[in-house]
Amino acid sequence: MLRSLQKPPLLQMSREALKIVIVGGVAGGMSAATRARRLNEAASIKVFERGPYVSFANCGLPYALGEVIKDTDSLLLQTPESIKRRFNIDVEINTEVLSIDRRNLTVDILKDTNDTRKVSYDKLILALGAEPWQPQIEGLSAYHVFTLHTIPDLESVRDFISKNKPKRATVIGGGFIGLEAAENLQNLGLEVSILEYASQVFLPVDSNIATHLHDEIRKQNVKLFLNARIQSVKAPSAEYPGAVILQDGTSVPTDLVLAVTGSRPRTELARQAGLELNEKAGGVAVNPYMQTSDPNIYAVGDMVAAHHRISSTTSPLLLAGPANRQGRLAADHIFGRRRIYKGNVGTSVCKVFDLTAGSVGLSVRALRALGKDPQYITVHPPHHAGYYPGAQNVTMKLVFEKMTGKILGAQAVGKAGVDKRIDILATAIQGGISVFDLEDLELGYAPPFGSAKDVVNMAGFVACNVMRGDVEIIHEEDMEKEMENGTNFVDVRSRMEFMRGHVKGAVNIPVDELRARVGELDIRKRTVVYCWVGYRGYLAYRILKQHGFESVVNLDGGLKNVVEGGLVRLLGE
Ligand SMILES: Cc1cc2nc3c(=O)[nH]c(=O)nc-3n(C[C@H](O)[C@H](O)[C@H](O)COP(=O)(O)OP(=O)(O)OC[C@H]3O[C@@H](n4cnc5c(N)ncnc54)[C@H](O)[C@@H]3O)c2cc1C
Repeated sequence: MLRSLQKPPLLQMSREALKIVIVGGVAGGMSAATRARRLNEAASIKVFERGPYVSFANCGLPYALGEVIKDTDSLLLQTPESIKRRFNIDVEINTEVLSIDRRNLTVDILKDTNDTRKVSYDKLILALGAEPWQPQIEGLSAYHVFTLHTIPDLESVRDFISKNKPKRATVIGGGFIGLEAAENLQNLGLEVSILEYASQVFLPVDSNIATHLHDEIRKQNVKLFLNARIQSVKAPSAEYPGAVILQDGTSVPTDLVLAVTGSRPRTELARQAGLELNEKAGGVAVNPYMQTSDPNIYAVGDMVAAHHRISSTTSPLLLAGPANRQGRLAADHIFGRRRIYKGNVGTSVCKVFDLTAGSVGLSVRALRALGKDPQYITVHPPHHAGYYPGAQNVTMKLVFEKMTGKILGAQAVGKAGVDKRIDILATAIQGGISVFDLEDLELGYAPPFGSAKDVVNMAGFVACNVMRGDVEIIHEEDMEKEMENGTNFVDVRSRMEFMRGHVKGAVNIPVDELRARVGELDIRKRTVVYCWVGYRGYLAYRILKQHGFESVVNLDGGLKNVVEGGLVRLLGE
């Protein structure tokens, strides 16, 4: 459907300069500032940044730590001088906004710890970001404990490493920053441990996808402690080597601790100014134009609670893309362009050593926590034509509504091609297309780049087969119950594959022999067919169904899901 192009309203080019004050000079703040300038040459635009740098790429910090990014200056995208030259925007660094006087439209600022003054605004944009959050743990303020949120944080860790030459590092937190930091500390030659409070790392994905990451982390000789309950952190001293002590008594020796245990929206300034907050989820409440409860004040980025397009709840989403886009929208609205923020879908991607993990929308776990009962399928196709050298399997889990096929989320893990597929599905979700459209999606193909039936098409085919009733599936999480109920498991792989490992109690009838040997199976008994990735199981399902088996199901994603999803206990001799 074509949408007619809306003509933007005439720009306000009046002689009277609108005074725009922006608090926070990184992703959201600088996007708002430069967009405002592009829309209006006359406006007075001032940015106050309490740190020593403006417009820096904090997403590159883990890689600068590991010296993958060799020149830290390349993280400094702009300076106050370059911004002044190009955009005629006044940026003051080392300048903190202390309070907002909404009645008189002023902010109180503190520059370089001693110079205070009032600055007036017509429109105020808050882009204060999020504050690193740390749990209450004894010893977490010791001299060898750091976080990684800003360039000064990076400089502190580096300084400690160069002076103390630590051999062992412990990363507390298995979110994306923790995972990136762990890999980069290992790049520096340190022995690394990761301590994660939850039962899995990288929470946007379900546990069976996270299991791939756990295996990779351990394969890379990083010690991974899940469900880790930390009792205390002991700093290294002349008498005692440093360690992190867990409540179960485990001592993790360490000379350096990086605590990256999450962040919380910075809402204190907004709270003191009496702006409405989202008390439940955290974050400043905003409308789709990014206006707070005071129409002269906007808030963007990590500090806001925005609408989530899948859950229909509002919550903070601490990612750079949304912060940048929200900054643009706030500036647009100030100059009469009423474009709305359509909401978050949580598209995220993370390098975990040699794997990439990606996610968009909601996981099955998150949907269930909202009381939903989604359907999902798993495929494992190669990221480009299998016959072209270097093909790597992508494990993709596609989550959708049982009744409509609406896509609710996707997760993927693999050595290559994950980011591209997650981005396609992010586009699909935001475009409102369903699993039925994925079947028909025309994507670029040449052997080095993809397949004539791309990973996303394959996921669409399988999802549509399920939606249309061409196949019924169970998941690996259902298998134990099936086993208890005495279900017949039929392994339709070759004899060799069967001998290498199979489901407890399964019989082996290779799919190519199934038509001839169908009489060996009890037609009245519920039967689970399975192969390695799900395709031969699907063929077997179709054969058995057409031979009159009423209760037959295929194991979604095949035995690979069982083995790589961490359910090896279901395998038999
Ligand atoms: C190590 C690291 C890696 C990351 N990697 C990724 C990634 O790969 N992908 C991704 O999407 N996101 C990533 N993020 C998250 C991303 O950087 C943030 O979501 C994004 O920067 C948020 O933008 P923001 O403008 O809301 O806040 P920020 O970019 O944090 O900027 C807020 C600024 O406001 C300033 N400030 C706060 N209070 C005041 C005050 N009172 N007065 C003046 N100034 C103030 C702060 O000093 C800060 O510089 C990463 C974050 C970190 C820390």
